Parts: sequence; C-alpha cells; structure tokens
Amino acid sequence: MDNKFYITTPIYYVNDKPHIGHAYSSIVADVLARWRFGQGEDVVFSMGVDENAQKTVDAAAKRGEEIRAYTDRMAEIWQSTWEKLGLSYTDFIRTTEERHAAVVVDFWRRLEAAGDLYKEKYEGWYCRGHEAFLNEDELTPDGLCPEHKTKPDWVSEENYYFALSKYQQPLLDFYAAHEDFVAPANRFNEVKSFVERGLEDVSFSREKKAWGIPVPDDPEQVIYVWADALVNYITVVGGIEGWEQHPADIHVVGKDILRFHAVIWPAMLMSAGLPLPGQALASGFFTIDGVKISKTIGNVIDPLDLTARYGNDALRYFLLREIPFGEDGDFSEAKMRDRYNADLANGLGNFAARVLALAEKEESVAELSDPAFQLEMDRMRQLAFLRTKEFKFNEALAAIWAAISFGDRYMNNEAVWAIQDGEDRRENLGNLIALLGAVAEVLLPYLPDSSRKISAAIRREDGATRASRIEPLFPRVTA
Ligand SMILES: [Zn+2]
Repeated sequence: MDNKFYITTPIYYVNDKPHIGHAYSSIVADVLARWRFGQGEDVVFSMGVDENAQKTVDAAAKRGEEIRAYTDRMAEIWQSTWEKLGLSYTDFIRTTEERHAAVVVDFWRRLEAAGDLYKEKYEGWYCRGHEAFLNEDELTPDGLCPEHKTKPDWVSEENYYFALSKYQQPLLDFYAAHEDFVAPANRFNEVKSFVERGLEDVSFSREKKAWGIPVPDDPEQVIYVWADALVNYITVVGGIEGWEQHPADIHVVGKDILRFHAVIWPAMLMSAGLPLPGQALASGFFTIDGVKISKTIGNVIDPLDLTARYGNDALRYFLLREIPFGEDGDFSEAKMRDRYNADLANGLGNFAARVLALAEKEESVAELSDPAFQLEMDRMRQLAFLRTKEFKFNEALAAIWAAISFGDRYMNNEAVWAIQDGEDRRENLGNLIALLGAVAEVLLPYLPDSSRKISAAIRREDGATRASRIEPLFPRVTA
C-alpha cells in the first residue's frame, strides 16, 4: 500500500463556539497525525466547518448579519483557534467552498444511480434546532423538543430519502469482518445492536431552502447534512478518485455523532460503490465541574483562555492524561492546575531543568553507559508506542512519566550535583541526558512544544554530547 495516513476531525457546526470538547477531539486527532508523521508517513489531517445548515441562517439572522459575512467571521474563529492551539492540520474545509459542492453533486448522482434515493411526502414535528423531524414519543409531555426546549413546527414536505434500511445486513457483515471499525469496543457494541434492531430510511433533503447545495436537477430541494457534511471527507482528498485511492484511515468523532459515521456514512459509501474508512474513534462527553456543557448555563470554556494561562502543551497533557480515551470526562480548572503543578512543573519541567543545568557546566557529557537506563528507555518507548496504537493515550503518558520518575530517583540517590569526581559526574549526566533526550523524542506527538525545546538543548558536536539550560518549561501556577 501507499505510505499515506489520512485522519479527520468532525467538521463542526460553524455557528457553535469552539469549546473544550471540540478541542479534545481535535487534539486526539493531532496526536495521531503527529505520531504517524513521526513514523515517516505522508499525513493528511483535515479539519473544517459545516456551514450549510439552516441553523446557520437562523444564527446569522438573529445577529442581524449577512449570511456570508457571518460564516466568514465564524469560520475564521474556528480556524484561528486551531492555529493558536498549534494543531498540525493540513486542510481546513468549509462546506460552502466550490470544490465541495462539486463533489457533493458527484456523490449524490452515485446514490441516485444505485437506485437508493426516492422522493416521499412526510408530515411531522420539525425541530429547527435539530433540523430534523422528531417522533411524537420523543417530545416532552408539553410537546417540546427535550433538547432545545422549543415547540417544534408541524411541517409537511416532500423530501428525498436514502434507502438506509437496505444496508442493514451489508453493514452487519462489514462490522463482523472489521472488528476494530469502531473504537472503543463498547461503543462498537452499541452501534451493532442499533443496526441489529433494524434501520429506517433517512431523509436526505429539505424543501425550498435558500441556503445549501441544491439537489441536482431538482432545485426546489436542498441536500441535507448527511450527503453534504459527511462528503467533506471525500472533498479533502480531491474528490471521488482521491477517496478511491486512499479513503480515511481514521475519523475522530464525538460519541454523539458516532452513529452518523459508523452507520449512515458507511452505508452511503457502499451505495456509492466506494471504499469504507478504516476506523471511527469515538470520544466521550465533557462535563465542567460535574455539569453538562451548555450555553444556557454559561459554563462553556474557551480552550484559548486555558492555553493563555497554562500553554498549549499543558492543555494537551491534562486532557489526554486525565481522561481515558472514549470515556466521559470532567473538566475542572482546579484539577488541571493540580496536574500542571505536580506532573509538569515538578515533574517533566523540573527534571529537564535540573539535568540540563548540571550538564551545561560540563564541557561535554559521556555516552549512555548504564544498562538500567537503556532498559528503562526501551520499556518507555515500547509502552508508549503500544498504548498510542491502542488509543490509550493516558497510559502512554503514564509510561513516559514513569521514565521521568526513574531519572528523578537516580539523580537524588546518586546526588549527581554533589559528585566530586569529574569523570564519574560526566558519566552520570550522560545517562541522564540520554534518558531526557529519549523522553523528548517519545513526547513529540503529545507535547510538541516542550519536546522541541528539550531536544534543541541537547546537541551532538564533534562526536561529543553537549547540553545547555532552558527557560522553565512550566512555571508554577497558583490559584
Ligand atoms: Zn430539538
């Protein structure tokens, strides 16, 4: 096969505001992108925004902004957030781009040619927030949408439907043949039992909307989110042909949109006669201090507020270390500050500062000579590799931190700073510098800024290893 690795984040609704949950999924994708890049792969890492929703039109109108000006402004907020967080994405797609509309039309025609699209009249309770019909039994006793707390409209319209029900068995067969298609495994089981219960056809268009991509040859209809937003993954690789050559290896998604990526999307691809993605990784939900994130409660945390105080690496470290991937997590700034001070300021930061400051005083340090160090470094590299591969990011970090503790203990036991014998001191520091260098190398996908600063402080010159001190990586933070 080729040497390419293609990973995507969800494309987020442009009218949301980037919060910690979005940052988390995106950081996970970034770690995997950097990790595979480090293995010499040619990485395509795509992010983007979904702009074609009717919600977007409503949001612009509410603010009295012209729709295009509004989406331009919002898309800029999203992109600059990822830029400031230092994410290594290679493409940022907006679904209002021309390159996308062309691919959506190609894709639609394939579903049509497969005989999987048909028109039908539908009547029901339509929630504008959901942009979907809700069943009577989904409404609250007062007839409101349970999520948006608004009264849905009674709407009667003709839509195109996608014959999803046809794909129940093909999907189940596919799942059986690809046992790691969804991770974590418990989420995959939920997907399987959902499909086993039977699938209903889904509405793929909306009637008479002025915003969005029109259905080919039927301009009264606009293509609904599935055949629009999901198709962005094909647009990013240049269209149908690019996807045929190399479909996405990993879609990182939140658990709320897992069904779309693990059920509707593969069924659409089967219908279109296209290869399926490798894996969908589902992250859990976040609460803030134990409370669900909600605009109404006003507990939405802007990730940039956190990185302004703690730095990008600290946010990455906290999110990846604190929450086992796939599980729901709780964010609290107090917890983040505790981990920051304990693991980063006192842990990695302090270890790097001590070793580099002592090594700087030497003309050069000796080469790695202690087999115990070699063993520790091998253990760390192996574990970090395996755990990253299994998406157990917290355990990969724990393995790296075990090596940092090993170095710290050694330094204290040997009282390296007080060794009088010059050769002995050079040797001890040589082992510590080798360990620190290995830590920096393994940390590159996780904490890229700190990793680079440490690596840059250790130099090979004229066959000798020299080191220089660095500014504190993680200055202590008080409440
Ligand atoms: Zn709703």
